[in-house]
Amino acid sequence: MSRIIVPFARGHLEPDTVAALEEYCPKSVRWATVCVDEEPEYEMIWPKPHTGYHEMLAAMWGEKETTIIIEHDIVIVPGVIESLLACEHDWCGNPYFVASHVQVCLGCTKFSSNLMFKYPNMMHDAGEIDASAPAKDWHRVDIRIDEVLRQKLKVERHDHDVQVGHINDQHKGRTGPQYTVNDTAPRWEQAMKLDQGADSVLG
Ligand SMILES: [Zn+2]
Repeated sequence: MSRIIVPFARGHLEPDTVAALEEYCPKSVRWATVCVDEEPEYEMIWPKPHTGYHEMLAAMWGEKETTIIIEHDIVIVPGVIESLLACEHDWCGNPYFVASHVQVCLGCTKFSSNLMFKYPNMMHDAGEIDASAPAKDWHRVDIRIDEVLRQKLKVERHDHDVQVGHINDQHKGRTGPQYTVNDTAPRWEQAMKLDQGADSVLG
């Protein structure tokens, strides 16, 4: 059995993220959005610990079912889910544009059931790390999982080649192969260009 979880902070679940899953997720794979934002009234939670995402991942790990995480602003392209699920590796990810380059982060990741059985304490150990942010804080959950899996347990992540879309209002707008208008223009500029008749795959 395998599944997809789309963790989201309230107000940040992108329509394109949902539309792409509706379009490209195989019908045999179940997926669900899960709100991990336990204190939506806080405009800026930092430096207050914000642990909902960590706790969701820890619960997921405990259930030991192969799971693909698609974060609330990641937009899959055809074949991504099939390829992740067909892959023999236990820890896989697809890259997207973030922090000035295309790289694999937690936003589009598969963790296998095998990995959860083999390392049942992984999320617990990640939750103990409190360097540079409070323990279990969502800002560092990606890095802390990497720290435990890669550095401590010596598990190699398998990076897939296909780039997925990433919507990021604050920095570079909509990025990825499906956004042909202008990958790095601010979002309002893209909206203007779309109004002028450019095509969008997800239109
Ligand atoms: Zn793989």
